[in-house]
Order: sequence, then structure tokens, then C-alpha cells
Amino acid sequence: MRIVRFAIVVVLLSPVLGIIHADAQGAPASQSTPKLEHFDISMVDKTLDPCQDFYKYACSKWNAANPIPADQVAWGTGSGLQYWNENILRDALEKAAAPTSNRTDYEQKIGDYWAACMDESGIEAAGTRDLKPELERIAQMTSKSQLADQVAHIHRAVPGAWQGDDNQSRAALLGFGQMQDFDNASRVVAAIDQAGLGLPNRDFYIKDDDKSKEIRGEYETHIKKMLVLSGESPEQSAVDAKTIIAIETAMAQAQMDNVTRRDPKNLNNKMSLEQVQSLTPSFDWKHYIEVVSAPPSSPHYIVTSPNFFRGLEPLIQQHSVDDWKVYLRWHLVHGSAPYLSKAFVDENWNFYSHTLQGARQLQPRWRRCVRAADRDLGMALGQAYVAAAFPPESKQRTVAMVHDIEHALDQDITTIDWMQPATKEQAKIKLQAIEDKIGYPDHWRDYSSVKVGRDSYLNNVHEATTFEFHRQLNKIGKPVDREEWTMTPPTINAYYDAQLNTINFPGGILQPPYFDSKMEDPVNYGAIGMVIGHEITHGFDDEGRKFDAQGNLRDWWTEADAKAYDQRGQCIADEYTEEIPEAGVKQNGHLTQGEDTADNGGLRLAFMAVTNKLQSEGKSLDAKEADGWTPRQKFFVSYAYSWCEELRPEFMRTIVLTNPHSIPRYRVNNVVSNMPEFQEAFSCKKGSPMVRANQCRVW
Ligand SMILES: [Zn+2]
Repeated sequence: MRIVRFAIVVVLLSPVLGIIHADAQGAPASQSTPKLEHFDISMVDKTLDPCQDFYKYACSKWNAANPIPADQVAWGTGSGLQYWNENILRDALEKAAAPTSNRTDYEQKIGDYWAACMDESGIEAAGTRDLKPELERIAQMTSKSQLADQVAHIHRAVPGAWQGDDNQSRAALLGFGQMQDFDNASRVVAAIDQAGLGLPNRDFYIKDDDKSKEIRGEYETHIKKMLVLSGESPEQSAVDAKTIIAIETAMAQAQMDNVTRRDPKNLNNKMSLEQVQSLTPSFDWKHYIEVVSAPPSSPHYIVTSPNFFRGLEPLIQQHSVDDWKVYLRWHLVHGSAPYLSKAFVDENWNFYSHTLQGARQLQPRWRRCVRAADRDLGMALGQAYVAAAFPPESKQRTVAMVHDIEHALDQDITTIDWMQPATKEQAKIKLQAIEDKIGYPDHWRDYSSVKVGRDSYLNNVHEATTFEFHRQLNKIGKPVDREEWTMTPPTINAYYDAQLNTINFPGGILQPPYFDSKMEDPVNYGAIGMVIGHEITHGFDDEGRKFDAQGNLRDWWTEADAKAYDQRGQCIADEYTEEIPEAGVKQNGHLTQGEDTADNGGLRLAFMAVTNKLQSEGKSLDAKEADGWTPRQKFFVSYAYSWCEELRPEFMRTIVLTNPHSIPRYRVNNVVSNMPEFQEAFSCKKGSPMVRANQCRVW
């Protein structure tokens, strides 16, 4: 995600997955034309037994017919939609780039952004020209007391240097931003997060298996190559790469792990600026706040990981000013690489896309430019997407489904036997308060102060980064803006925001194969209905349940009900802790527990909702239709079909270690094997793999 949100936002797909559903230039014809993947029940492999491996039954034929393109790290039924959405954006960008005299301000911005990004020969000719002022600034550093100044400049300039995501910020040295106050969701406070790494998370520095060591070796080589590209000698770069890895490893050791971070209570450390300052006396916070133009004070500062900041102090003291200059140079070059010449782009791709994720070929430039424009000006560009691809009928039908599924959860809360009336009442109050946001925001963002030109792609990205950073920091000390969206309209994803108590479905995911106006109800409820149920369930997963109807971190559970909940949650965590042989790693069910709870709750709620709907229309769930399938069977096949996706082993390994979502096979098989409603659909017998002996159920 692009916006600093230390807030607890739970998304459907990983941010990584969000950008990898993409296609290749020079790929087979079927993949180089935009094609929406409609649900196709003939893709089921009827020679297989659905009770043995339902994912295989529903997906093996599709996966075999749709191999992963060379420039992709995963490929699934949603990938065609990604390509289709990007093509709509490309059309809008190309149109806006045509140099006519009567362009609107908005067309000038997105059009010139596109033209500068696509100008490969101009970017090649510029070399490191536009990076020079920043490199110079670092070269002139003479004292460690200037560290705060330097870090502030990098955070203002380098895209991704300060943004947080679900797990943690990837900023140089530390992350700084805003969030809703955990204890008072109506106001915004400053938040300070652990960060500073170049590898995906702390485990990559600490694990001592052979594969982890091999990746660290390749990371060191990558740093050396990048430093040489930025002007260092090969000899110097070899020494510097070791320094950088030593600094980052020490930071990783001081960081909070990603499972501990899942409990918001562990993040809610309120401090005054003086207290923050005392954690790391050698970092001048007051100066940092001045340079990034944040409001000079905040009601308090939330420090997500105080130990990390305690750990920074000896690190700053132990390393020389030259060591810190090297560290800063690396993070500047690293964060700027995608916007520089081919040599930088290729080397950046080589480590992050090839080594860490298994891609075999760089994506075509136009697709990279579409995604950059979506990130930097997406709430302007998104208007074109809504106009072209999101008709009002889609919104109306989605709203109706959301209401049906919310009603199903109300029904579920009424009937479950493990929760007492007092807690049930609170749960219903929270459910009633959920706000449904569908398609796109009511108010579009004002980008009028962002300067965009055709001369320098790097400068455009720099401008947009500064704009967004200021926009975020300006919220500190103010009441929360409940209308804001953190995903742009064409995004194929969805999220629940625990501190706003909202569910959010961008228009981008309300398309086939997830939502299809041509399809019957069981198909739509199995696909997008489950996604809606998933997001609603996040309000009641092991993390979401700790927030109340207003988004405050407040315990509304009786002790007995909390205990009953935790037992059910433990069942899920145990079930999803499994070795993944093809990736050479074990999935940690405590990391994925919230998402797994949401998957299980989501499919059950969607099933309850479609059952209610068919009953109200006098239709049967189990009557065979002309095509030989029952509506109940179609519901489950459609669910599995929407998750058909092959992942390269390198990518799988990286997401298992970093991402809170389970791999697609588990998202299907573990969920259905917990559901008697599924076993009935395919007459699965006790003892078969899709009939789990110990079925987990929270919602
Ligand atoms: Zn989720």
C-alpha cells in the first residue's frame, strides 16, 4: 500500500500480489490482449475427486492451460482482470499525453507524467543527473548530528522511503507518519515505526538456513552493483556493502517480529516527544519534524516498537559518519532505481523480482508506468477508470450483496452457541456500525499543487512523493477524515479498516471473475460474496475483535467469551501451520490467523446469504440444473475458481515469510474442509481429506 498507515488495515490480497497480476510483452497472443476471465465450470477436472483435493479439482485444468508468463511471478484467474484494468488506464494516459492546447489541469498532470515515464531515451540520456543533488547532500555530511536532516530529506524525496504497509515501513532508518489514535479513533496522531531494511523483513537477516544465507549473499552482491552504478569503485563498494549489511542486521535484530505486531496492544505505546527523544538521543527528532514539515506537536506520539529505537542508539554511536553516509547513499539509490536508467532498473529487477520472487523477464515499460501513475496520481486517474468500467448498476448490486452478507453475520451471531448474550449485543452494535464503501470515493483528491512536467520522470516521482508525505503529515492533530480511501478505484483488492470500522471495495475488484453481472447468484456469492464476507469478518478476527464499533482499541468481551474465542482461534492457527515443500518453508498459522479466520468466516457468511436469497425466491440449493450442477456445487466451485493461481517457488517462499495471507491452495482446501455445507455438496465421506476430523470454526 502506498499511504503511510500504521492503522490496522486488513486487505484481501497482499500488496505484492496486487501488483503481480500482470502480463508480458511478447507473451502468447491469449495473454497480450486484455481478456476478462469469466467463470467457466467446464474447467473443472471431473476425472478428479473433489473430496480428495478440491483446489486441484477446480483449478488444475485452468492452471495447466495458463502457465505463468516469463515476466510474472504468479498467474491466476484474476490476472486477466489486472491486464484489462491497466489497459483502460493506459488509454486514459495516452489520450491525456497528446499535446493539445485545451487539456485540463488534471489531463496535463497525468498526461505529462505518462510521457516522462515512457520517455526511455530521455531517461537514458539523463543518467544520474536528477539524483545528483541528493547524492551531493549526503556527500557533504560531516557529523552524525546531521543524520536526522539527511533522513528527512530522503523521506521527502524517495518514493517508498517512508510509506508503511501492513507489516512495517520500509523507510530509510525509521518510519514516520500519521495514524488514528488507538484509544480515540476520532483524532489523528503522529506515529513512529521501525524500518530501515532493504530485505523484505527481519527474518531474512536472522534465519540461518542455507537458502537464507544464499539470499543474503546475493543481496550483498546486489548492493555492490548498485553502489558501483552510483559512482563508487568496485573495491570501495565491496567494503561498503558489508557495512550496510552489518547496520541493517543490527536493525533487524532490534525489530519486533511480525506475529507480535499483529496484536495492536503491542503497538500502542504512547509517548511525548521528549520520551521519543530519550529512546534515541543521537537522532534529533525536533529537527527531523521541522524538515519534513510535520506539525510541531501531536497529542502524543505512538511508537510501535520502542525497543527498535533503543537499539538504534548504540548503532548510531558505534558506526562512523562515513558508515552512515554509505547507508544513506544505498537507501537513496535503492529507492530511486526504478525511475532511473536501464542499468539501475535491470539490477533492481534482478534482485527484487528475479532472486526474491522468481520472475524471468522484466515487465514491459508501459505496465510499470501505469502502476506508477496509479500510485502517484491514482485518485485523479481513477476517475477515468470509473467512467469507463464501473457502471452504477455494479454499485447497486454490490450494495445489495453487502447487506445480505451483513444480515448473515447478524444471524450467525444470534445462533452461535459459544458466545454469551452480553458479548453478542456488543458484536451486533459493531456490525450495525460498519460503513460500506463501494467503488470509489465521494470526493476526489486535489492534486493541483503537484508539479508534473515532461522533462524528468524522477523529479515527477519526487514531487508526488513530497506531496503525499505532506498530505499525510498534515492530518496530525486533526479530526479523522472518514471519507478517505487508501486504495485507488482500479485496484483489484479490498480492505477492512479496523479504526474506521469500514469495508472498502474499489471498482477494480467488482469485475469478472469476482463480480460478474452475467452470472447467476451462486457464482457471484461464491466469488465476490466470499470477499465481502471476508472483509466483514476482519472486524471480528483475532485482531479486529479488539476494536469497538467506533474503531477504538477497547475490550468489549467478557472474559469467558474471549477465552472461548481464543480456543477457536488456536484451532485455525494450528490448522494453517504447515510445511510447504515446494517453497522449502513452513507457513506460520499465527501470522496468517486473521486472514484465515476471515476466509473461513467469509465463505460461510456468503453461503448463508446465498441460501437465504435462493430460499426467498423459492429456489433449491440442491436441485440439479440443466448443466448437471447444483447451485450449491456452483457456489463452491466458483469460490475455488476465483483463487486458482500458480506461484513461482521463490515468490511463494517470500510471501510465506512476510505475508499474512495463506497460499491459494490453503485458501481453498482448508476452508472447505472445515465446512459440512461443502461436504454435502459433493457427498464427501468421513475420512476423506476434504472432511477434516477436527473442523475449526470461529464464525
Ligand atoms: Zn483479509
